[in-house]
Amino acid sequence: CGIVGYIGTQPATDILMAGLERLEYRGYDSAGIATVWEGEIQCVRAKGKLYNLREKLERTDNQARLGIGHTRWATHGKPEEYNAHPHTDTHQRVAVVQNGIVENYRELREDLKKRGHEFRSDTDTEVIPHLIAECLPEPSTPDFQHPNAFLDAVRQAVNQLHGAFAIAIICADYPDELIVARQQAPLILGFGQGEFFCASDTPALVPHTHAVLNLENGELARLTPLGAEVYNFNGERLRKFPRTLNWNP
Ligand code: GLU
Repeated sequence: CGIVGYIGTQPATDILMAGLERLEYRGYDSAGIATVWEGEIQCVRAKGKLYNLREKLERTDNQARLGIGHTRWATHGKPEEYNAHPHTDTHQRVAVVQNGIVENYRELREDLKKRGHEFRSDTDTEVIPHLIAECLPEPSTPDFQHPNAFLDAVRQAVNQLHGAFAIAIICADYPDELIVARQQAPLILGFGQGEFFCASDTPALVPHTHAVLNLENGELARLTPLGAEVYNFNGERLRKFPRTLNWNP
C-alpha cells in the first residue's frame, strides 16, 4: 500500500528501503524493490516484514541509481512472494509497482495471454508491465531511440486501464527514466538536485527534499536525473511547479 521511486546519483536501494520504512504505517503484507542494474531489471521481493526484504537485499551487490519500491496490501492474489510487486513483463524488461486496483484486468489478461504473454502472478497489476512491453518499439527500429518512446508506451498502456491506481515504472532499455502515473490514488513527486523521487505520501520524501508536486488524476510524469516533466493522458505537456512543504518534525 505504498510506492516509492528514485532516480539520481545515489545508490537507489538504500533510499527506496528507507522510503518504504517511512510508509510502513499504511500497512502491508509483502514488499519489493526493482532497479535497473547492469542493463537488466533486478527484482527482489519478500513476504512479510520489510526486515525480510532488507536481508535479501544485503545479499545483492547493487549500485543502481534508478529504482522503484512497494509495500503491498493484497487485493487480487494471496499475500505470497510471487504476487508481491514489482511485476515484470514476459522478457523482464519492464517493472511496475501499483497501488490500487485495475478493474478490467481479467479481459486484459486473457487478451495478452492470447498474444503470447506469460503470466507469473495472480494479481491485477501484472497486466500493466505486459501492456507497456507490447507498446514499446522494437529495439531494431528507429522509434526505439525516440525521446518519448518509453513515456508513450506507458501512456498507451495506462489509457487501457480502468480503476483507481497510482503506478511507477522502470524499463531496462531506458535507464535514465522513471515514469509514474496517477488515477484516483495518491502520488507525490519530490524535486532534488540532480535527483528526483516519487512516493505515495510525503514522509518518504522529507528526508531528501521539501520541494514537492502532487500529481493530479489523469497525469503522468517522466523523471530523469535532469528534471521532472508532467503530461496528461493525451500526451500534452503541462506546466507545473513544485511547492515547498511546511514540515514540522
Ligand atoms: N491490487 C494490487 C495487488 O493486489 C495492489 C494492492 C496495493 O495497493 O498494495 O497486488
